[in-house]
Amino acid sequence: METVALNDVKVAEAPDGIQGNGFFATSLDKVVGLARSNSIWPLPFATSCCGIEFMATMGAHYDLARFGSERLSFSPRQADLLMVMGTIAKKMGPVLRQVYEQMAEPRWVLSVGACACSGGIFDTYSVLQGIDRIIPVDVYVPGCPPRPEQIIDGILKIQHLIQNESLRRRDSPEYKSMLNKYGIE
Ligand code: SF4
Repeated sequence: METVALNDVKVAEAPDGIQGNGFFATSLDKVVGLARSNSIWPLPFATSCCGIEFMATMGAHYDLARFGSERLSFSPRQADLLMVMGTIAKKMGPVLRQVYEQMAEPRWVLSVGACACSGGIFDTYSVLQGIDRIIPVDVYVPGCPPRPEQIIDGILKIQHLIQNESLRRRDSPEYKSMLNKYGIE
């Protein structure tokens, strides 16, 4: 069995700040961003084949736990990243939206695969042509299906967003107005 040396374990990088003899000072935003981005609790909303790629992403070979995201949540109330993976039929739209609304702020959305991003190959009357018609999306992962590496890349981009998000963003008029456009209070 392969063993991992302590030197191989990568520690998350400290945010920008001022360092001196015995002290390190930075802003609260950056500390909270660092903690949040390395402890994402994803809610997998998997409806079809892209969900299988997500299973591979969670498996030992790709191991999403390396990024602090091993704790999946099947309750929206204990999740902060909604991962939508698969074809979303129009009938499923209200369910997806309800799941999003039940998540507490701050929450992020990762749209995985062509179907979730744009309806994919299903340009038909019954399929939602992109989940951003009903909920806001933070990062899109293209592909049909995207490989686990692409899903991990999407997670890294979400981590980057989280690390650089102001603590005040969710209370800003711009954010509220964006939610209002979706009819979400
Ligand atoms: S994008 Fe392709 S692989 Fe993913 S759910 Fe749609 S058809 Fe399946």
